[in-house]
Amino acid sequence: MDNYLEKTFSIAGKVALVTGGARGIGYGIASALAGAGADLMLAARTESQLVTAQQQLVADSRRRVETMVADLSQEDTPARLIGETISRFGKIDILVNNAGSNIRKPVLDFSSKDFDTIIDIQLKSAFFTAQCAAREMAKTGGGRIINLASLTSKIGVSGIALYGAAKGGIFALTKALAVELADANINVNAVAPGYVRTAMTEPAFSDETRSQWMLSRIPINRFGTPEEIGNTVLFLASPASNYITGEVIYVDGGWMAA
Ligand code: NAD
Repeated sequence: MDNYLEKTFSIAGKVALVTGGARGIGYGIASALAGAGADLMLAARTESQLVTAQQQLVADSRRRVETMVADLSQEDTPARLIGETISRFGKIDILVNNAGSNIRKPVLDFSSKDFDTIIDIQLKSAFFTAQCAAREMAKTGGGRIINLASLTSKIGVSGIALYGAAKGGIFALTKALAVELADANINVNAVAPGYVRTAMTEPAFSDETRSQWMLSRIPINRFGTPEEIGNTVLFLASPASNYITGEVIYVDGGWMAA
């Protein structure tokens, strides 16, 4: 039995890059991947958060965890980040495009600058980080790319139109990359969380009316956790999902089903 579990779910010896891995859902993902045996490269904007995350992950998993301060909205960051991962670890097996941010405004108030801010961090950075990672994965026989989508990839939610547009792009990008990179043995999938309480969603959670409305839509009747998103990412990074590519898995307590 142990051997079966190990063969099917272990990612021991793999190298995973998690963008935005210092806190929130990204930390939950990093923790699941390290717990299953991967060495990690974490990239985020705030050095102090990276250091805290690194120390905790090493203490919990005894895996090698490296960090890089990076602003993924800058055009040269994806190439630098993948280059740094290769120079420190010699390879990249798993990329998780998790970094993201949001701007809440009515549709009529969004500016062109807002548009660029959200599309750059949510969509453009995911594409170019995947492109740079895929070049390296192709040299070593393949890999996994896992993107963070959202309920808003499929449904409209008021106040976050640009975020929804970017996450719709992630849905389509996941499928396009999956089709084109299959020959290189690179599986590309996405995880679409429902509502998880993090720094990004704090404004929605601290609005009592909004958070009650969110809860009322969830058949499982509670919000998700970073660990639950991490476990689904781990499944998509492991041999258990070898035959899955181009999928978007909703981890939403049943929201989309209802
Ligand atoms: P969070 O704000 O807690 O974490 C976001 C992470 O991204 C942070 O580590 C931050 O440093 C990093 N980041 C943001 N902008 C960056 C930049 N320019 N360069 C580098 N790193 C940057 O938010 P979260 O809720 O943990 O979100 C993680 C991912 O999950 C995002 O892609 C988000 O869109 C997605 N998501 C979240 C929810 C939710 O309910 N929390 C739901 C659906 C999808």
